[in-house]
Amino acid sequence: MTFLEWREAAPGVLVAVAEPDSVNIALVLGGTPQAPGLLVDTGSSPEQGARLRADVVELTGTDPAGVVITHGHRDHWFGLAGLAGVPSFGHASLANRLEDPATAADLAGLGLSPADLVAPTTLLHLARGIDLSGRRVEIVHLGPGHTEGDLVVVVPDSKVVIAGDLVESAGVPQAGPDSALGQWPATLDGLVGVLGEDAVVIPGHGGPMSRTDVITQRAELAAVTGEARALIERGIAEADAGAAGNWPWPTETVAPHIARAYAELASAGVRARPQLPIVLERGGS
Ligand SMILES: [Zn+2]
Repeated sequence: MTFLEWREAAPGVLVAVAEPDSVNIALVLGGTPQAPGLLVDTGSSPEQGARLRADVVELTGTDPAGVVITHGHRDHWFGLAGLAGVPSFGHASLANRLEDPATAADLAGLGLSPADLVAPTTLLHLARGIDLSGRRVEIVHLGPGHTEGDLVVVVPDSKVVIAGDLVESAGVPQAGPDSALGQWPATLDGLVGVLGEDAVVIPGHGGPMSRTDVITQRAELAAVTGEARALIERGIAEADAGAAGNWPWPTETVAPHIARAYAELASAGVRARPQLPIVLERGGS
Protein backbone atom coordinates (compact mmCIF):
# COMPACT_ATOMS: atom_id res chain seq x y z
CA MET A 1 0.00 0.00 0.00
CA THR A 2 1.30 3.40 -0.93
CA PHE A 3 2.03 6.20 1.56
CA LEU A 4 -0.24 8.64 -0.30
CA GLU A 5 -3.48 8.09 -2.17
CA TRP A 6 -2.75 8.55 -5.88
CA ARG A 7 -5.43 9.25 -8.45
CA GLU A 8 -5.21 9.67 -12.19
CA ALA A 9 -5.75 13.34 -13.11
CA ALA A 10 -5.28 12.60 -16.82
CA PRO A 11 -3.96 9.65 -18.81
CA GLY A 12 -0.59 8.73 -17.34
CA VAL A 13 -0.49 11.56 -14.79
CA LEU A 14 -1.06 10.65 -11.13
CA VAL A 15 -1.64 13.21 -8.39
CA ALA A 16 -1.59 12.84 -4.60
CA VAL A 17 -2.01 15.33 -1.77
CA ALA A 18 0.69 15.53 0.91
CA GLU A 19 0.00 17.01 4.33
CA PRO A 20 0.46 19.10 6.40
CA ASP A 21 0.39 21.69 3.60
CA SER A 22 -2.13 19.92 1.33
CA VAL A 23 0.33 20.22 -1.52
CA ASN A 24 -0.24 18.41 -4.81
CA ILE A 25 2.48 15.94 -5.75
CA ALA A 26 2.39 14.70 -9.35
CA LEU A 27 3.87 11.64 -10.99
CA VAL A 28 4.13 11.68 -14.78
CA LEU A 29 4.36 8.06 -15.86
CA GLY A 30 6.77 6.94 -18.56
CA GLY A 31 5.76 6.13 -22.12
CA THR A 32 5.91 2.36 -21.65
CA PRO A 33 4.71 0.15 -18.78
CA GLN A 34 7.18 0.08 -15.87
CA ALA A 35 9.24 2.89 -17.44
CA PRO A 36 10.65 5.44 -14.97
CA GLY A 37 8.40 8.45 -14.43
CA LEU A 38 8.94 12.07 -13.42
CA LEU A 39 8.05 13.20 -9.90
CA VAL A 40 6.94 16.82 -9.55
CA ASP A 41 7.51 18.29 -6.06
CA THR A 42 8.63 16.41 -2.99
CA GLY A 43 6.64 17.32 0.13
CA SER A 44 7.73 19.12 3.28
CA SER A 45 10.53 16.98 4.75
CA PRO A 46 13.27 14.55 3.72
CA GLU A 47 11.26 11.79 5.40
CA GLN A 48 8.25 12.63 3.25
CA GLY A 49 10.45 12.72 0.15
CA ALA A 50 11.75 9.25 0.96
CA ARG A 51 8.20 7.94 1.38
CA LEU A 52 7.21 9.49 -1.96
CA ARG A 53 10.19 7.77 -3.53
CA ALA A 54 8.98 4.44 -2.11
CA ASP A 55 5.51 5.18 -3.55
CA VAL A 56 7.01 5.77 -6.99
CA VAL A 57 8.91 2.48 -6.80
CA GLU A 58 5.72 0.67 -5.77
CA LEU A 59 3.70 2.27 -8.59
CA THR A 60 6.23 1.97 -11.41
CA GLY A 61 8.67 -0.69 -10.21
CA THR A 62 11.59 1.69 -10.33
CA ASP A 63 13.00 4.99 -9.07
CA PRO A 64 11.82 8.09 -10.94
CA ALA A 65 13.88 9.21 -13.91
CA GLY A 66 13.87 12.68 -12.39
CA VAL A 67 12.36 15.08 -9.89
CA VAL A 68 11.19 18.64 -10.59
CA ILE A 69 11.00 21.26 -7.84
CA THR A 70 8.41 23.78 -9.06
CA HIS A 71 9.71 26.47 -6.65
CA GLY A 72 11.64 27.03 -3.47
CA HIS A 73 8.94 26.72 -0.83
CA ARG A 74 9.08 24.11 1.90
CA ASP A 75 6.12 21.97 0.86
CA HIS A 76 7.49 21.56 -2.66
CA TRP A 77 11.23 21.42 -1.99
CA PHE A 78 12.16 20.15 1.47
CA GLY A 79 11.49 16.50 0.57
CA LEU A 80 14.23 16.53 -2.07
CA ALA A 81 16.88 15.29 0.38
CA GLY A 82 14.89 12.06 0.60
CA LEU A 83 15.52 11.41 -3.10
CA ALA A 84 19.32 11.36 -3.12
CA GLY A 85 20.79 9.93 -6.31
CA VAL A 86 17.76 10.82 -8.46
CA PRO A 87 18.45 13.57 -11.04
CA SER A 88 16.56 16.71 -10.05
CA PHE A 89 15.62 19.97 -11.71
CA GLY A 90 14.86 23.41 -10.27
CA HIS A 91 15.13 27.04 -11.27
CA ALA A 92 18.56 28.68 -11.00
CA SER A 93 17.28 31.04 -8.27
CA LEU A 94 17.01 28.11 -5.84
CA ALA A 95 20.77 28.35 -5.33
CA ASN A 96 20.26 31.70 -3.58
CA ARG A 97 17.47 30.36 -1.42
CA LEU A 98 19.76 27.81 0.24
CA GLU A 99 21.23 30.69 2.26
CA ASP A 100 18.01 32.69 2.60
CA PRO A 101 17.00 33.53 6.22
CA ALA A 102 13.36 32.82 5.28
CA THR A 103 14.34 29.31 4.18
CA ALA A 104 16.28 28.79 7.43
CA ALA A 105 13.26 29.95 9.44
CA ASP A 106 10.98 27.55 7.55
CA LEU A 107 13.43 24.69 8.16
CA ALA A 108 13.59 25.50 11.88
CA GLY A 109 9.80 25.58 12.06
CA LEU A 110 9.75 21.97 10.85
CA GLY A 111 12.53 20.89 13.21
CA LEU A 112 14.98 20.71 10.28
CA SER A 113 18.39 22.28 9.74
CA PRO A 114 20.06 23.70 6.61
CA ALA A 115 21.93 20.39 6.36
CA ASP A 116 18.58 18.75 5.54
CA LEU A 117 18.22 20.84 2.40
CA VAL A 118 19.78 20.08 -0.96
CA ALA A 119 19.78 21.99 -4.24
CA PRO A 120 18.51 20.27 -7.37
CA THR A 121 21.29 18.62 -9.37
CA THR A 122 20.35 20.65 -12.47
CA LEU A 123 19.47 24.34 -12.20
CA LEU A 124 17.52 25.75 -15.17
CA HIS A 125 17.15 29.30 -16.42
CA LEU A 126 14.62 28.65 -19.14
CA ALA A 127 13.60 25.16 -20.23
CA ARG A 128 14.52 21.51 -20.48
CA GLY A 129 12.94 18.66 -22.39
CA ILE A 130 12.89 15.17 -20.89
CA ASP A 131 12.16 11.92 -22.69
CA LEU A 132 10.36 9.44 -20.43
CA SER A 133 10.73 6.33 -22.57
CA GLY A 134 9.05 7.90 -25.56
CA ARG A 135 6.88 10.35 -23.62
CA ARG A 136 8.01 13.94 -24.05
CA VAL A 137 7.80 16.29 -21.06
CA GLU A 138 8.88 19.95 -20.95
CA ILE A 139 10.07 21.80 -17.86
CA VAL A 140 9.68 25.54 -18.44
CA HIS A 141 10.28 28.80 -16.58
CA LEU A 142 7.67 31.22 -17.94
CA GLY A 143 8.76 34.14 -15.76
CA PRO A 144 8.51 35.29 -12.13
CA GLY A 145 5.22 35.21 -10.28
CA HIS A 146 4.52 33.30 -7.09
CA THR A 147 8.32 33.33 -6.65
CA GLU A 148 11.27 34.43 -8.71
CA GLY A 149 11.82 30.90 -9.98
CA ASP A 150 8.56 29.11 -10.74
CA LEU A 151 8.77 26.13 -13.09
CA VAL A 152 5.87 24.47 -14.86
CA VAL A 153 5.83 20.94 -16.26
CA VAL A 154 4.06 20.47 -19.59
CA VAL A 155 2.90 16.99 -20.61
CA PRO A 156 1.69 17.51 -24.19
CA ASP A 157 0.23 14.06 -24.89
CA SER A 158 -2.15 14.20 -21.92
CA LYS A 159 -2.86 17.97 -22.20
CA VAL A 160 -1.69 18.39 -18.62
CA VAL A 161 0.31 21.25 -17.17
CA ILE A 162 1.59 21.03 -13.60
CA ALA A 163 1.80 24.65 -12.55
CA GLY A 164 3.07 24.70 -8.95
CA ASP A 165 1.78 27.66 -6.99
CA LEU A 166 1.45 29.97 -10.02
CA VAL A 167 -2.24 29.17 -9.75
CA GLU A 168 -4.30 27.74 -6.92
CA SER A 169 -7.81 26.36 -6.58
CA ALA A 170 -7.74 25.68 -2.82
CA GLY A 171 -7.87 29.44 -2.19
CA VAL A 172 -6.48 32.62 -3.65
CA PRO A 173 -2.98 32.42 -5.20
CA GLN A 174 -0.56 32.87 -2.31
CA ALA A 175 1.69 35.92 -2.37
CA GLY A 176 4.57 36.73 -0.04
CA PRO A 177 7.66 38.93 0.16
CA ASP A 178 9.31 36.70 -2.46
CA SER A 179 6.50 37.08 -5.01
CA ALA A 180 6.69 39.19 -8.17
CA LEU A 181 3.11 40.40 -8.18
CA GLY A 182 3.56 42.91 -11.00
CA GLN A 183 5.10 40.34 -13.34
CA TRP A 184 2.82 37.47 -12.37
CA PRO A 185 0.01 38.23 -14.89
CA ALA A 186 2.47 38.23 -17.82
CA THR A 187 3.82 34.88 -16.63
CA LEU A 188 0.28 33.51 -16.59
CA ASP A 189 -0.18 34.85 -20.13
CA GLY A 190 2.67 32.55 -21.04
CA LEU A 191 0.95 29.69 -19.22
CA VAL A 192 -2.35 30.33 -21.03
CA GLY A 193 -0.36 30.25 -24.25
CA VAL A 194 0.63 26.62 -23.73
CA LEU A 195 -2.87 25.51 -22.71
CA GLY A 196 -5.30 24.07 -25.22
CA GLU A 197 -9.05 24.58 -24.72
CA ASP A 198 -9.35 21.25 -22.89
CA ALA A 199 -6.14 21.45 -20.89
CA VAL A 200 -5.99 20.17 -17.33
CA VAL A 201 -3.95 22.37 -15.01
CA ILE A 202 -2.72 20.85 -11.76
CA PRO A 203 -2.21 23.72 -9.30
CA GLY A 204 0.05 23.60 -6.26
CA HIS A 205 -2.95 23.29 -3.98
CA GLY A 206 -6.52 22.21 -4.73
CA GLY A 207 -8.27 20.32 -7.50
CA PRO A 208 -7.57 20.51 -11.25
CA MET A 209 -8.22 23.80 -13.03
CA SER A 210 -9.24 24.71 -16.57
CA ARG A 211 -7.73 27.19 -19.01
CA THR A 212 -10.60 29.56 -18.16
CA ASP A 213 -9.78 29.29 -14.44
CA VAL A 214 -6.20 30.36 -15.20
CA ILE A 215 -7.38 33.32 -17.28
CA THR A 216 -9.64 34.39 -14.41
CA GLN A 217 -6.85 34.14 -11.87
CA ARG A 218 -4.56 36.11 -14.19
CA ALA A 219 -7.14 38.92 -14.34
CA GLU A 220 -7.58 38.91 -10.56
CA LEU A 221 -3.83 39.17 -9.96
CA ALA A 222 -3.57 42.05 -12.43
CA ALA A 223 -6.50 43.77 -10.72
CA VAL A 224 -4.70 43.68 -7.36
CA THR A 225 -1.71 45.61 -8.69
CA GLY A 226 -3.96 48.00 -10.60
CA GLU A 227 -6.08 48.73 -7.55
CA ALA A 228 -3.03 49.21 -5.32
CA ARG A 229 -1.58 51.68 -7.81
CA ALA A 230 -4.81 53.69 -7.86
CA LEU A 231 -4.94 53.78 -4.05
CA ILE A 232 -1.30 54.86 -3.73
CA GLU A 233 -1.87 57.65 -6.24
CA ARG A 234 -4.89 58.79 -4.19
CA GLY A 235 -2.67 58.90 -1.10
CA ILE A 236 -4.29 55.91 0.66
CA ALA A 237 -1.89 54.33 3.17
CA GLU A 238 -1.23 50.58 3.02
CA ALA A 239 -2.94 50.11 6.40
CA ASP A 240 -6.17 51.53 4.98
CA ALA A 241 -5.98 49.85 1.58
CA GLY A 242 -7.88 46.71 2.55
CA ALA A 243 -10.97 48.66 3.52
CA ALA A 244 -10.60 51.39 0.89
CA GLY A 245 -9.97 49.18 -2.12
CA ASN A 246 -12.11 47.13 -4.44
CA TRP A 247 -10.39 43.72 -4.38
CA PRO A 248 -11.08 40.55 -6.36
CA TRP A 249 -10.93 38.42 -3.21
CA PRO A 250 -12.25 38.71 0.35
CA THR A 251 -10.45 41.46 2.26
CA GLU A 252 -9.17 39.04 4.93
CA THR A 253 -7.23 37.07 2.31
CA VAL A 254 -5.77 39.96 0.35
CA ALA A 255 -3.47 41.57 2.96
CA PRO A 256 -0.27 39.78 1.76
CA HIS A 257 -1.01 40.83 -1.82
CA ILE A 258 -1.59 44.45 -0.78
CA ALA A 259 1.70 44.46 1.16
CA ARG A 260 3.59 43.06 -1.79
CA ALA A 261 1.92 45.39 -4.32
CA TYR A 262 2.64 48.46 -2.16
CA ALA A 263 6.29 47.43 -1.80
CA GLU A 264 6.75 46.75 -5.52
CA LEU A 265 5.01 49.95 -6.59
CA ALA A 266 6.99 52.05 -4.08
CA SER A 267 10.24 50.69 -5.44
CA ALA A 268 8.97 51.44 -8.96
CA GLY A 269 8.53 55.08 -7.92
CA VAL A 270 4.74 55.19 -7.72
CA ARG A 271 3.73 57.99 -5.34
CA ALA A 272 0.63 59.88 -4.30
CA ARG A 273 -0.27 62.40 -6.95
CA PRO A 274 -0.78 65.98 -5.78
CA GLN A 275 -4.49 66.68 -5.74
CA LEU A 276 -4.82 69.90 -7.64
CA PRO A 277 -7.71 72.13 -6.64
CA ILE A 278 -10.34 71.94 -9.29
CA VAL A 279 -11.64 75.41 -10.06
CA LEU A 280 -15.03 75.44 -11.63
CA GLU A 281 -15.56 78.29 -14.00
CA ARG A 282 -18.77 80.07 -13.51
CA GLY A 283 -20.48 80.59 -16.78
CA GLY A 284 -22.53 83.67 -17.63
CA SER A 285 -23.95 85.99 -15.00
ZN1 LIG B 1 4.66 28.25 -2.82
